[in-house]
Amino acid sequence: MIRALILGGTADASLLAAEIARAGIDAVYSYGGRTRTPADQPLPTRIGGFGGVSGLADYFRREGITHVIDATHPFATEMSRNAVEACAETGVPLMALERSAWVKAPGDNWIEIPDVNAAVAALPKSPAKVFLAIGRQHIAPFASRPEHAYTLRFVDPPEKPLPFTADVIVSRGPFTLEGELEMMRTRSIAWIVARNSGGDGARAKIDAARMLSLPVIMIARPRLPERLRVESVAEVLQWLCHRARLGA
Ligand code: NAP
Repeated sequence: MIRALILGGTADASLLAAEIARAGIDAVYSYGGRTRTPADQPLPTRIGGFGGVSGLADYFRREGITHVIDATHPFATEMSRNAVEACAETGVPLMALERSAWVKAPGDNWIEIPDVNAAVAALPKSPAKVFLAIGRQHIAPFASRPEHAYTLRFVDPPEKPLPFTADVIVSRGPFTLEGELEMMRTRSIAWIVARNSGGDGARAKIDAARMLSLPVIMIARPRLPERLRVESVAEVLQWLCHRARLGA
């Protein structure tokens, strides 16, 4: 018998949940609790942290979890590391569903850097209009470069004051190429700071930047421990069904 846990919060996790529900596989969908109104899922859903590695391992035991699919965002490193450790500790098999990183295409003007602090350092010296497409928990270091005018985009309106004044767009996406071009043109965006999330959902801003010949400061993905990883929902389903046949 399978009882899967999907660590979610991404478009891919939603696609996976739909397929798992359609296949009639017993599963729980888990949200981290960052957005105020998360999308409904066709599976029983829980929201909020587990309490680190030990809390997650306890959850597996308590809920009889037999398989874990880590479909979190590629920059949700703490959750992914906890999943590797808790699965190793309890012997529960783990698979990551993660799209490949974006690869620079002809016409892209990327400055590839390893982390947020390097992104702050890579900003131009003279004042510029900068679209910070990086998530609210990572914006604080940009307060050290107040000469720039920042545009931020969040799913929910900010609850606390921001560390600097900014033009805030509240929108959930998905974002189209036309929409991103319009947003960048009307705000005269000259620089973009983005994380290399990969996949199609967040790609429009990168395509728009290429079309407008704008520089993109691209933050590389953080390193994660070795784990079984696939890129498609179909491969996760195959893995689950194969293991179900083996009784594993
Ligand atoms: P993170 O830094 O890796 O996680 C911080 C803590 O939040 C984890 O240690 C865990 O708490 C809890 N957590 C995270 N994801 C969880 C999940 N799916 N279910 C239950 N608990 C979870 O993660 P993050 O970058 O804040 O991202 C949080 C959520 O937002 C994830 O589900 C991710 O897929 C989604 N998301 C993130 C980004 C991003 O840019 N990072 C973008 C889109 C969506 P405990 O240690 O207490 O278990």
